[in-house]
Amino acid sequence: MRASILYGNEDLRYEECETPKVEPGTVLIRIEITGICGSDIPRVLQNGAHFYPIILGHEFSGVIEEVGENVSDLEVGDHVVGIPLMPCFECEDCKKGNYSLCKHYDFVGSRRNGSYAEYIVLPKENVYKIDKSIPFEQAAMFEPATVALHAIRLLDFNPGKTVAVLGSGTIGLFMIQIAKSLGASRIVAFSRSEKKLNLAKRVGADESYSTLEDNFIDAAKKFNGNKGFDYVFETAGSTETMKYAFELVGNKGKVCLVGTPTKNLEFTPKLWENLNRKEFILTGSWMSYSAPYPGSEWKDIEQLFATGKVKYYPEMVHKVFDLEDAKDAFQMYKEGTVKGKILLKCHKSK
Ligand SMILES: [Zn+2]
Ligand SMILES: [Zn+2]
Repeated sequence: MRASILYGNEDLRYEECETPKVEPGTVLIRIEITGICGSDIPRVLQNGAHFYPIILGHEFSGVIEEVGENVSDLEVGDHVVGIPLMPCFECEDCKKGNYSLCKHYDFVGSRRNGSYAEYIVLPKENVYKIDKSIPFEQAAMFEPATVALHAIRLLDFNPGKTVAVLGSGTIGLFMIQIAKSLGASRIVAFSRSEKKLNLAKRVGADESYSTLEDNFIDAAKKFNGNKGFDYVFETAGSTETMKYAFELVGNKGKVCLVGTPTKNLEFTPKLWENLNRKEFILTGSWMSYSAPYPGSEWKDIEQLFATGKVKYYPEMVHKVFDLEDAKDAFQMYKEGTVKGKILLKCHKSK
């Protein structure tokens, strides 16, 4: 098969390599579409890979091409998405069903080879069968959508409450749609990009504010009835947006940090004191799993997609590249010109 293999920092090569073999309990998937995750960027551009050479990629859709022994619930021709986390199922966290917190885990596309390839072999537990009516582009976005749902669940989300979403990337845009489907009374989005602010409104935000404008926090609170928000989700992982969350949340509200930090974060005492004065609850969120594995996040996202409550908007995708041009996609990340999800087509159209 052909794959985009990372040999070292910024050294992606599209090459012929051995197609992985099916073993008992596994299936061979012909990968149709794989997404580039924000977490793949430092893996390629900042020496962030666990080892070399490696095939990255953990957000993908495809078709089962071969089924190993002892696999009864999957068939050749099934449309599937990959479930990238392989927890140990043995440790205390796994026994409690907190698979995302397992320390002895394996992960597709970071600790073992992933989906920037024509084919992948996965244990049957890591394959989620989807309805054939769901387009492959959309299905490749299942994983980030489950991440958004997991974070929302962590806050014990109740309908009729107000929501602020910081960052309007893929996860932020899914967050807005899911919060709306769960009955949020008001959703406000925040981004630096004018294009994303418009898209946030199209997918369901009641209002959106540019974080580049002066006084955007006051303006948003004013729009929210001169109050802070009940739920605040930070999805950008930037030091600024994490601080904005402390300002935007209301008394007794809840803040969930979903974005992964990349820089030192410094708070003034006054800013940190918001946590005391507002008595808000602060938590982080990690991946998208619960018991029974992989969790209701996956089942419910499929339902939300199937009923159209959560949708894939073509504008969420910045560009679709052929797998052989993955290198060019990462060049765009390096130049900072990517405004949305990048998808890779793993097979040439027939
Ligand atoms: Zn990801
Ligand atoms: Zn474990």
